[in-house]
Parts: sequence; structure tokens; C-alpha cells
Amino acid sequence: MLVINGSFGEGGGQILRSSLALSIVTGVPFRIDCIRAKRRKPGLMRQHLTAVRAAAEICCAKVTGDKIGSTEVEFVPGEAVGGEYSFSIGTAGSTTLVLQTVLLPLVLAKEPSTIVLEGGTHNPFAPPFDYLQRVYLPLLNRMGPHVEARLEKPGFYPAGGGRMVVDVTPVKYLDGISILERGELKQRAAKAVVSGLPRSIGKREVRVIEKHLKWDDGETRIVEVERPVGPGNIVTIELEYDNVTEMFTGFGEVGRSAEAVATHAVQQYQRYIKTDAPIGEYLTDQLMLPLAVARSGEFRSTGLSRHAETHIELIHKFLDVCINTKRQTDGEVTITIDQQAID
Ligand code: AMP
Repeated sequence: MLVINGSFGEGGGQILRSSLALSIVTGVPFRIDCIRAKRRKPGLMRQHLTAVRAAAEICCAKVTGDKIGSTEVEFVPGEAVGGEYSFSIGTAGSTTLVLQTVLLPLVLAKEPSTIVLEGGTHNPFAPPFDYLQRVYLPLLNRMGPHVEARLEKPGFYPAGGGRMVVDVTPVKYLDGISILERGELKQRAAKAVVSGLPRSIGKREVRVIEKHLKWDDGETRIVEVERPVGPGNIVTIELEYDNVTEMFTGFGEVGRSAEAVATHAVQQYQRYIKTDAPIGEYLTDQLMLPLAVARSGEFRSTGLSRHAETHIELIHKFLDVCINTKRQTDGEVTITIDQQAID
């Protein structure tokens, strides 16, 4: 059994979630201890517990340690079986992160799936639903499967109560992809979403974007959530190029001004356009997993975060792939993923 120390590298939830996904895809059982040791509240929170149970359900795994606060889990996977699944986190925990745990195994199952997820759809420190739909899934779909996600109800942290439905048409294997250039910019758009909060917050946010980026008001919009479950606010700036779509997000929270929320998204955008690498920080760590499972692919990234470095180390524990990182002096990195050469 593979033993993983959950405190290595970045020491967060991604080590657990990706271990679950990789374990099912490879059939390798594992035990993980020191789960989320580097987080303020270590161990399994509701989102992680839901991820463990969801992973177990889709492949009839044998699991021990699956309780709130647990810092150790043992997981013996079976074969992933597609079907109708419903996973409810019960708090505002991130549904996109739970989805990313089960998605790859279901993409490689024999049968199609429909997955309903309930909880948070727009959480700080996690991909918001818009990012899943516009950035991550189009790239995954270029690798062969067809995955479509729809947001039925947004759920903002801390109230949660969101719901999304994901349809998966699987494939036997994933194709590698190459993304070395952005290509031409096709479209740019910014959005301020307010849920149960005054529209004026959204107005102030788009004003910051129009002023700093010199975008006109046709490129920005304000969305007011109908029948909101709880208060929430998010700002997204989206750039759609020929070869990739990237998105930069600011999350509203109590005590943070609308201007600060929008400025956070603007600053990420500015860091991205200072370079010409197509794949930004968050996408770098997320794209690695499907490409490693495909055992083939290459992309140019704006830089390697601690999450990305940790992910590379974790992937090597499960898969005999070669992940080569070639750094340029300006911090950009070209990542190449190949089948490990057999001597
Ligand atoms: P962890 O902190 O280990 O639970 O992992 C969080 C995951 O969420 C990582 O894969 C990050 O790339 C991703 N993530 C965090 N914030 C964002 C964001 N604003 N947009 C897209 N992905 C994000």
C-alpha cells in the first residue's frame, strides 16, 4: 500500500483529493496521514469528507478514517462505474473541488455519468463555477471526453446552498494536448455578481475594472442573483484566446471593500498579461493531473506555485510519468509530460 504524508509540500486538501483520483485511476491503494497538516484547521472538513465518500461511492472502495477531523484515511479502490450520482456537502464547502476528485475516474469509466453537487459554488481558495465551466472543462474536453456543467443555483461562502449538474460522456483514454501559445485574443469580459447585496457593489467593482483596464462598459456587466440563498459577491475577469481561456477572480467578504475585491482580480490580470505564457497559476496545478493521466502533454505556464510543485511530487508517487519543468529567466516554465522511458 502506498503511504502518503499529507503534510509534504503545500500540505493542503489537494494532496488528498488528487490521491483519491489517482488511486482510482491507477488501482493503487493508499494510506494518507497528517491530512491538511499545514492548514489552520487540519484534518477532514466537510468538503474533504464528501470528496472521500464520493470517491469511495463511484468505485465501491474500502475506506477507513472517513470522519470529520480525521487526519488519516486508508483507501482501497475498486473500478470506477459511471452512473447517476448526487453529492451534498452540507456546508458551503467547494463543490468544484469535490467534482475534481471524481471527475477523472468518471471520465475514464465505461458508462456515462450525471453528477449533482450541492454546497458552495463560489468559494475563496477554490475554482469558482465560472472557472470550471469556462477555463478547466474546455481544456479537459480537448483531451477527448465531453463534460458539461450547468449551474442551477449559485452558492456563495459562507451560506452555501448552491447546486450544479455535470454530464460526463467518457472516453477509454485521454489524449495529451499542447498549449505553448495563447493565440489571438478573441474576447474579453468582466463580470461582478452580487447575491443578496446591493447592485451598487457591483457598480463600484465594474467601475474599478473600466478605469484600470480602460475597458468600455460594453465589456463589463453586473449580475444580480435571483432568489439568493445568502449574501455573496464575486468579480471575474475573463480572457478568451484561440488556445486557452483564463480567468481572474476577486471574492467579496465582510470587511473588504468592493474596490479591494475588484483590484485583487485586476492585479492577477495584470500579472498574467505581463507575460505571454498561456497557462496561469491556478490552471497550471489543475491541468497537470489530466495530462499526467494522459501520460502526454506540454504547456507553457506563467510560473510554478507551491501547489503545482506539490502536485508534481504527488503525481510521481502514483504514475510512472516524467514531468519535466524547464524554467526561463523571467519565471515562465514549460512543462512537458511524457511516458517514463523504460530502460
Ligand atoms: P487546496 O488549497 O489544496 O485545497 O487546493 C485548492 C485548489 O483550488 C488548487 O487546485 C487551486 O489551483 C484552486 N484555486 C484556488 N483559488 C482559485 C481561483 N481563484 N481560481 C481557480 N482556481 C483556484
